[in-house]
Amino acid sequence: MSIVDSLKRPEYTGQNRCLPCTVVNSAIIAVVAFALGILWIPVGLVVLVVGAVAVYLRGYVVPGTPEFAPRLVEAAGLADVFGYDDEDELRESESLTADINPEVMLSTLLDSGVLIEKEDGLYVADDFRDGWEETMATLRKGSDDELANTVSTAVPFEADVSPQFDGIGIDGPDMSVWMSRAQAIADVATIFALSEEGIPASVRLAATEPMRMFIEICPECGGAVEETTVRNCCGGTAGLYDNPEHPVLACAECDAVVYELDE
Ligand SMILES: [Zn+2]
Repeated sequence: MSIVDSLKRPEYTGQNRCLPCTVVNSAIIAVVAFALGILWIPVGLVVLVVGAVAVYLRGYVVPGTPEFAPRLVEAAGLADVFGYDDEDELRESESLTADINPEVMLSTLLDSGVLIEKEDGLYVADDFRDGWEETMATLRKGSDDELANTVSTAVPFEADVSPQFDGIGIDGPDMSVWMSRAQAIADVATIFALSEEGIPASVRLAATEPMRMFIEICPECGGAVEETTVRNCCGGTAGLYDNPEHPVLACAECDAVVYELDE
């Protein structure tokens, strides 16, 4: 490995390069170099060259840049310039919710044998998992339109459901949410599979998000789901406002976020 390679941070460069981070850092370096250059030109030049090389190889040099640069760009009204489209890039999958006590939900899932409590935590029962994953496999073969139709039959309320922005928009009387395709597939499969177990509709709905914690196979592509971090502005899968190192369960193959872990 060469010195250049060891300095490189591929997670912040190349395809993953964050434009706001690069621009903001270059500007900071230019200002510092100029200020030092007034005192003594060679020092200014050294700062300029070293800074530029560092930004090129490492994505950014000022600590914390991925956290503040996108916000700075947004605050300066330049988000459009950097291609952040409010409708697309910032879109974060939302969850179906139901007004139900989480303890009631948990005890219902435990009593029905969907979840099993072991010494080291909660697990999904194997036979439940089989049917659940099979349903996801069937759903992923369908088109967005077919998925939207299935969502509208699965949710226990009248809703206007349609494909939107590579996902599914659900417009109901008490709830208006957008879900990524992966999470919509997961949640519909959860509702159907819990229905098979005789779980009441309100519990099924409330359980959709927590059940995603137990997913091992990507609802969208069938790849392996693993614990990882979303590097938001620098590559990554999520929006502009997220913590750059937000822990999630996501697909190793297609990057679909399945569940956001608490920090
Ligand atoms: Zn996937």
